[in-house]
Amino acid sequence: MAEQQQPTIASWLRQHESLARIELEVALCHVLTCSRAHLLSHPEQSLERQALDQLDHWVDQLHHHVPLAYLTGEQEFWGLALSVDERVLVPRPDTEILVERALECLQEVSAPAGTGDLMALDLGTGSGAIALAMAHERRDVRIHACDVSTDCLAVAEANSRALGLPITLHLSDWFEGIDQHFHVIVANPPYIDSEDPHLSRLQAEPRSALIARDRGLADLRSIIEQAPHHLAHGGWLALEHGYDQGHSAREMLARRGFEQIGTRRDLGGNERVSWGQFTQYEADLSYG
Ligand code: GLN
Repeated sequence: MAEQQQPTIASWLRQHESLARIELEVALCHVLTCSRAHLLSHPEQSLERQALDQLDHWVDQLHHHVPLAYLTGEQEFWGLALSVDERVLVPRPDTEILVERALECLQEVSAPAGTGDLMALDLGTGSGAIALAMAHERRDVRIHACDVSTDCLAVAEANSRALGLPITLHLSDWFEGIDQHFHVIVANPPYIDSEDPHLSRLQAEPRSALIARDRGLADLRSIIEQAPHHLAHGGWLALEHGYDQGHSAREMLARRGFEQIGTRRDLGGNERVSWGQFTQYEADLSYG
């Protein structure tokens, strides 16, 4: 068949129907350097050997659960074009809910007169997605972000520069290397159980960004435990968690003394982001 000798955009799309159409289209746009409108209006365009080799390699990678974002080297998050690679977790659309909630929390706090700027911290920032989205929305807030991995910090730093959104980066295992206090602290920590069957589809991404001990709750617990030492009075903590961890997250927040606890569902209807406000004074905090 002529089609087999010289595949076209349309025949190539048909040939790989088992993969998500949107991913195939993004791959085509990237390799052919064209718009989606062009794909739709030129389905008969034939694919040159070089483009085809690259596309077939990508299809093979997609079948092995390599995220498309690692192949193209970019992922959009909160309307920002982020560079990503194997060093960082690919930012998920559901995580925009955490950003939304963090921005609401920032609306609810105000820096007491004379004490300086509002401060926010993104724990385990990875590509910098959450911190940069917040920086994009609130130029008046000092955004800090940390990660335990120097590789992640390099990616976050590059994204911060490329987007012209300044954030202060710290090399830190959760709060270990942090000595400031914040009005809002956010985190999308690892929260998947090491036995979770979903992990087989996530094998290309850093395991340290995905898996947590204690049924996926260990890192959420340690963040909730330590956060009050780093929150300004009346500050908020907002956390992303697994679809079945909303109850545990609220319980841990309540036990630690957080108030105004709430949860929001993701685009798939699962509980995904929980938060609380801390208004007590921690004995070991020196104010003033
Ligand atoms: N939400 C991601 C997923 O299930 C996991 C992110 C995380 O562990 N923080 O694909």
